[in-house]
Amino acid sequence: MNPSSLELAVLLLMLFLHLCFIPTLAAQLQNHIDATLGSGNLREAVRLPPGEHPNEWLAVNTVDFFNQVNILYGTLTEFCTASSCPLMTAGPKYEYRWADGVSIKKPIEVSASKYVEYLMDWIEAQLDDKSIFPQKLGASFPPNFQDVVKTIFKRLFQVYAHIYHTHFEKIVSLLKEEAHLNACFKHFVLFTWEFQLIDKGELAPLYELIESILQFFFKIYFVLGKRIVSFCFASHAAF
Ligand SMILES: [Zn+2]
Repeated sequence: MNPSSLELAVLLLMLFLHLCFIPTLAAQLQNHIDATLGSGNLREAVRLPPGEHPNEWLAVNTVDFFNQVNILYGTLTEFCTASSCPLMTAGPKYEYRWADGVSIKKPIEVSASKYVEYLMDWIEAQLDDKSIFPQKLGASFPPNFQDVVKTIFKRLFQVYAHIYHTHFEKIVSLLKEEAHLNACFKHFVLFTWEFQLIDKGELAPLYELIESILQFFFKIYFVLGKRIVSFCFASHAAF
């Protein structure tokens, strides 16, 4: 074998190894990510850290969840248009109409993309309002702070409900973001559950999915609309 053939053989071998090992590494990383998010760490991650003020904790997480949903929906903007989604729906049974109680008092029918635009602008205005979300550490929160946070979470949930019901196939087939969407939603559900931020009735469009997430982390029975946590969460199982 002359030197040029040897070089060619080495090159081909490297290319072969490269093609073989890249998917394996990607699969390993994905398994690692799934295992981390599916472990008790995520359950623990939503809990109020010792010594932390509940409102500070809610404020930090509200900003994080807002950013997550904003990015997730941002990947769908070319598919969620006024013609594809003329109404803001979550399956055939649920439709959301926009009102902010200030400039729009009577709920109006708008396309999903317009609804999400109103919703994100409204949340951003709350987050930027220093009288609601004080930016200095130790500054006091307004008495209605938790009510504002609950409204923000209720509205962020509506975006998840629309994405799962209307755009999930696109997320799986084209965007390959299913694992990321599910991981974000699991985190969102656990945080919402921990602090009881959304009424059960509001969760109805994704009730089965939420129930399956909660049943994985807890052993929960829903009896006559009340929750009963009968056993501690499954902290070491893979999800
Ligand atoms: Zn849409």
